[in-house]
Amino acid sequence: MKGEISIFIGFECTQCGRRHPPGLVYQCPECGGSLDARYDYERFRQTVSIRDWIGRKERGIWKYRELLPVRARREPITLGEGSTPLIKSHSILKNLNIENFWIKNETVNPTLSFKDRAQSVAVNAAKDLGLGSVVCASTGNTGVAAAAYAARAGLPCSVYVPAGTPDEKLRIIRAFGAELRIVEGNYGDAYAEAGGESVRRGAFNLTSTYLNPYSIEGNKTVAYEIFAELGGVPDWIAIPVGAGPLLDACYKGFRELKAAGLAGSLPRMVGVQAQGCAPIVRAFENEDDQVRPWDAPRTVASGIADPLTTYPADGARTLRTIRESGGAAVAIGEEEIVRFRERLAAEEGLLVETSAATAVAAVSRLRERGLLQEGQSIVSVVTGHGVKDLTATTI
Ligand SMILES: [Zn+2]
Repeated sequence: MKGEISIFIGFECTQCGRRHPPGLVYQCPECGGSLDARYDYERFRQTVSIRDWIGRKERGIWKYRELLPVRARREPITLGEGSTPLIKSHSILKNLNIENFWIKNETVNPTLSFKDRAQSVAVNAAKDLGLGSVVCASTGNTGVAAAAYAARAGLPCSVYVPAGTPDEKLRIIRAFGAELRIVEGNYGDAYAEAGGESVRRGAFNLTSTYLNPYSIEGNKTVAYEIFAELGGVPDWIAIPVGAGPLLDACYKGFRELKAAGLAGSLPRMVGVQAQGCAPIVRAFENEDDQVRPWDAPRTVASGIADPLTTYPADGARTLRTIRESGGAAVAIGEEEIVRFRERLAAEEGLLVETSAATAVAAVSRLRERGLLQEGQSIVSVVTGHGVKDLTATTI
């Protein structure tokens, strides 16, 4: 792959539509909207055979580097993220007669969550942009991934986490040599602190909302892998969401495959939240276009406990994508989250974190509501490993 280059050409604002060249940019300088990476798809189609591209046998996300926002002609900084297994579920929901229920197992990434995809792209972008340090806010998984990839890239890293973040995650962040700062308050407070340090010190902000338009692109490789493995598009994809960049990027990945003439359809996207912090689900059910921040998050699913306090527009972007796809947003109760986490381990051999268990509980919910019909296929993305919040059994 050496010598090949991304056909990344810049960003487009998701709110005002203005275009911006590649460079150090987070939100739209004109209106503050979140940005979406753009590519020269015409050149992409001219320079690669799309069928060969999707079928590449190398491991990891960088086999898809043409559609990642990194331009330098050098070997990427990587820990082998991506190429995670797609496992057919045999047991946990067999009473529901779902023939094609697949689990995309993101727990086997290098730091045990899907965040490695985004953070790998982010540190490569930091090198492209000539930045000398990184910072992020995190409920745990992003901090762990950022710390590991910063170590790999030789970049100093600061991680801001809200008080109450599982102790296992804090120990791992420290083990990777990052500077850990525990913030009194919720994720929104940690987000503000990380933003402040980014401005003060010129550190690249790797926070995994829609803030960093480079890192979010790494998430769409989940879609490429699902398509390559299934040889097609599933009817539904269920994804746990805080702000929701994984859901949005996954849908973008399928849209790219459809535009390239490879995919014949698009999946319906299901955003899954915990009932104790469900700002996107509330807006979906109320048929609102805007998402209002959630007052007091209270859930065992700490990885998706994002009240969207200072960036509710991020939730609105995810909501638009869910609606555009003809999908749904569902909230899972605390007892159900814990029960599904236990059952996934005991019946399928998959130890996932509480947030990830919501994506499997959602399948049951969709079936009950008659949305997921017999004969349809669904993929649940289990986003993080259970070993990092093993002690989280109740709130
Ligand atoms: Zn704008």
